[in-house]
Amino acid sequence: MEEHFFTVKEAVLNNNCPECYNNNGLHLTFKQKFIETKWYKSITNETAQEIECRVCHTVIYPARWTDDIDRVFNYHQRAFKPKKTSIKLKKAAWWLIAGSVLVAAAIIATLLVWP
Ligand SMILES: [Zn+2]
Repeated sequence: MEEHFFTVKEAVLNNNCPECYNNNGLHLTFKQKFIETKWYKSITNETAQEIECRVCHTVIYPARWTDDIDRVFNYHQRAFKPKKTSIKLKKAAWWLIAGSVLVAAAIIATLLVWP
């Protein structure tokens, strides 16, 4: 099984970076978890957020957030709408289902022919 987070929304924050004090480097990213297996692909309802400074290339963890960053983050989080969760069956799964249906039909047909 393969899992990864894909970016749903990205916002540029005008706050000062707690590391390098630059005020145009902070990027807030909202991500959502995606699972891919042999049988299906699925968008889950699990989300994650990250603030990264693109000037000093540092991930700013919540412990380092200033009150201003907190406020801006809350604002963006309220506006954030995750993608609808979904499951898409892959071809392998459809073949499996089709195969099972055929086998079931064959069994039923056999039972009807030989009472
Ligand atoms: Zn920085």
